[in-house]
Amino acid sequence: MRRPMMAGNWKMNKTPREARELAQAILAQVGTLDTVDRVICPPFVALSALADLFTHSSIGLGAQNLHWEAAGAYTGEISAPMLAELVSYVIIGHSERRQFFGDTDETVQRKTAAALAHGLIPIVCVGETLAQNEAGETATVVGGQVAAALDGLDAEQVAGLVIAYEPIWAIGTGRAATAQQAQDICGGVVRAAVAQKIDAHRAATVSTKVRILYGGSTNPENIAEIMAQPDIDGALIGGAALKADSYAAMVRATAHLYSTR
Ligand code: PEP
Repeated sequence: MRRPMMAGNWKMNKTPREARELAQAILAQVGTLDTVDRVICPPFVALSALADLFTHSSIGLGAQNLHWEAAGAYTGEISAPMLAELVSYVIIGHSERRQFFGDTDETVQRKTAAALAHGLIPIVCVGETLAQNEAGETATVVGGQVAAALDGLDAEQVAGLVIAYEPIWAIGTGRAATAQQAQDICGGVVRAAVAQKIDAHRAATVSTKVRILYGGSTNPENIAEIMAQPDIDGALIGGAALKADSYAAMVRATAHLYSTR
């Protein structure tokens, strides 16, 4: 059985002091709820403080982006070896980075390879726009993004990936995909696209190991139904991760669901 994951993407929210306070509140509520992987992705400037705070806990820490080169003249960028001293996870290709900061399928692939080369677990984001969804292009777009991100990776690397399916029309809009819609894409498109990238005799094993998250307006009310879907292994949570109570409620709901499986 794949371990469930609740990953909080704090985006560009919280000063380092505010981040510490929120992290402490999360630690107090779900710091020991080990049946669910809890991953917090704060802004870069809070990573060091939160790495200290989480040292003796099982809460994982993640960054929200990285550069594919290890070092060099790239003002303002952060590399995988820098992050590897502080975090275990890194979000790659979030739709906001694709939309506003020039991330492409090609740079997502380079970032994914760089993260893996330095021992980080990538949380690779894919998802279609509303226009693409309405034009019936979801499977082509999302399948293509997954295939591109996995280019050049070997089967072991692919098996360790986390992929987040985040329909752009559902992010921060309060309009989540239905649990069935999310399942259809996570299983029928994302997991299927992973299997297609792997040689035939290992495809089923590897694609079964990859963890697939859904992201887009998840909250304590809808998380149980989403997490009940067979191909959804967790959530990438934006707004609801910015409050300890709602994030903790989602972790607890997931723990409860999995305890009955
Ligand atoms: C996200 O930022 O990845 C996200 C899913 O945000 P929200 O939960 O606020 O829709």
